[in-house]
Amino acid sequence: MLQFKEIAQAYEVLSDPEKREIYDQYGEDALKEGMGSGGGGGHNPFDIFESLFGGSPFGGAGGSSRGRRQRRGEDVIQPLKVSLEDLYNGASKKLSLSRNVLCSKCKGKGSKSGASMKCRGCQGSGMKVSVRHLGPSMIQQMQHPCNECKGTGETISDRDRCPQCKGEKVVQEKKVLEVHVEKGMQNGQRVTFPGEADEAPDTVTGDIVFVVQQKEHPKFKRKGDDLFVEHALTLTEALCGFQFILTHLDSRQLLIKSQPGEVVKPDQFKAINDEGMPMYQRPFMKGKLYIHFTVDFPEFLHPEQCKAIETVLPARAATQIRDMELDECEETTLHDVNIEEEMRRKQQAAQEAYEEDDDDMHGGAQRVQCAQQ
Ligand SMILES: [Zn+2]
Ligand SMILES: [Zn+2]
Repeated sequence: MLQFKEIAQAYEVLSDPEKREIYDQYGEDALKEGMGSGGGGGHNPFDIFESLFGGSPFGGAGGSSRGRRQRRGEDVIQPLKVSLEDLYNGASKKLSLSRNVLCSKCKGKGSKSGASMKCRGCQGSGMKVSVRHLGPSMIQQMQHPCNECKGTGETISDRDRCPQCKGEKVVQEKKVLEVHVEKGMQNGQRVTFPGEADEAPDTVTGDIVFVVQQKEHPKFKRKGDDLFVEHALTLTEALCGFQFILTHLDSRQLLIKSQPGEVVKPDQFKAINDEGMPMYQRPFMKGKLYIHFTVDFPEFLHPEQCKAIETVLPARAATQIRDMELDECEETTLHDVNIEEEMRRKQQAAQEAYEEDDDDMHGGAQRVQCAQQ
């Protein structure tokens, strides 16, 4: 949309009789040629815009202050760091900002009388054109915003200047915005304050947009409306039962305990319904709270301890091969390994070998070429 509008403006300028002359003299053929060649022949159809008006029609905001059409001011995007507690309970955050507002005394005119004069530097166009001679029949015209009026095309006489804004038309204002962090808001969600960005004359004021950035929590992880928490059990707890207290994001104390006789295995998940995150705009609905159990096994057991445990646990698998001819087996030794580390190293070695192979291939191809010549 934006791009199309800017191109239209560039054509508007082309119909300006002053520019038209230069355009007719140098531009039309170049423009047609560029368009017809489908972009492949080195003629950029927009070179003509660049040389005439000092900017590509795709080049952003440059040179579009012509006309009295209202432009739209920029939106201000601001990250808002929010704790998981605040997203669970809801919160209100006050943020102070300083922004430009139209001067109340002169209503953004910059002058006491409300009048302004055409800038003498640019004859009111807001733009200055500089001409460069590139050769006997070649000139390049560059357009840039007028430095005397900052591209506005008007000046205010010293005597008529507004005493409050000193002719700047805007003044700085401090403002406090209160952002309501609602229960269940998601990471990346936007809270918009329409028309609260910098004000400027003849401009529709842009928005201030806060983007929720959920902070890491030391205990809880969030996935959508669900919460995840890790809990380590001792082997005895895993086998014989456990209970512990979990402090929730609203400081409630949850008692979490196993069923009598229940055994929890390493890496097992369990869930508590309705103890996850509240859902956005439906805060009475909540996701699940998942508990991921790990089990801390003892590092070492004494033979007497083993004997004691064996009296209650199922029999060893080893007893089932008692009948085998052990003499015919070979002895082996089990080593401790860090399997992730070893796999990573092996993958890296394979990658390096592949890259070397690749180099050899290129070398070979070159040799073949030489031989052909
Ligand atoms: Zn000027
Ligand atoms: Zn003023």
